[in-house]
Amino acid sequence: MNIRKIGAVGAGQMGAGIAQICAQSGYDVYLCDISPDALDTALQCIDADLRRLVERGKLTTDEADAAAARITTGTDYEGFRDCQVAIEAAVEDEAVKKDILSKLCAVLPADAIITTNTSTISITRLATQTDRPGRFLGTHFMNPVPKLELVELIRGIATEEETFRIIQDFAVKLGKVPISAEDFPAFVVHRIVMPMVNEAIYTLYEGVGSVENIDTAMRLGTHHPMGPLELADFIGLDTCLGIMHTLHDGLADSKYRPCPLLVKYVEAGWLGRKTGRGFYDYSSDTPVPTR
Ligand code: NAD
Repeated sequence: MNIRKIGAVGAGQMGAGIAQICAQSGYDVYLCDISPDALDTALQCIDADLRRLVERGKLTTDEADAAAARITTGTDYEGFRDCQVAIEAAVEDEAVKKDILSKLCAVLPADAIITTNTSTISITRLATQTDRPGRFLGTHFMNPVPKLELVELIRGIATEEETFRIIQDFAVKLGKVPISAEDFPAFVVHRIVMPMVNEAIYTLYEGVGSVENIDTAMRLGTHHPMGPLELADFIGLDTCLGIMHTLHDGLADSKYRPCPLLVKYVEAGWLGRKTGRGFYDYSSDTPVPTR
């Protein structure tokens, strides 16, 4: 398959990052979102990131300009008609994703491959919403997409081997390192990281350590670049809770029980960096621990 044009649905943090790396790798890109504002913001973020890469000497100005020029945007599905690959990266809502998949199937060429960036929804189940379960798989990019090397490739039960190989090669061309993960709740990275984050919150909840002590312990004691509570605030506490529910419901093991303190923070609307308060208060220049 000669991949020339990629379509992406959802121009949030992930869709914008995916569009950027595809354009930087020489592919034409169509980026679609229901929100024109989201598309504008995505283009601004991509442009700012490309300029940063030029300042750091990682790209020439011509390369950055050429990458930006490869991206077109829109709120309809016409731009997908000549795509070989479509990547769904809209909100983590199964009903929304199903609706997007049926719209994609109506316009994509019959042999185009569809992938989804979902973090928690079953790839096998989403594949059933398409007319091509054999040409469907999960591509779970990490945030921020242009910086983090990993992409998890997740086969649904019906994914054909050829589909997997085409997307594996494509991921390498995007400069990523693909790993294969089976279609079980939270795949590999979140399956391991989220219970650690949840355990850090239990450690705080049970009074074993303060926010500062727990994060310092993990940064200096294990050389993690961020402490687990700082990481939770960065990811968003609602997202962390959603992933713990996925693990708890999907694997039916009490070891994945979300910490009651995490539930309480989410109920309070203290979701981390995005709301200005989580395990740290972000209202001043230096984040201040809240416990
Ligand atoms: P986001 O909230 O930043 O962006 C989602 C975008 O989807 C928004 O721009 C919204 O306008 C758009 N959207 C909503 N409904 C739509 C529709 N019907 N059609 C087209 N666009 C629509 O979300 P995000 O963080 O970029 O996450 C996107 C996907 O990537 C989710 O499935 C998420 O689970 C997954 N993911 C997120 C991360 C992360 O750290 N943020 C990491 C890996 C995977």
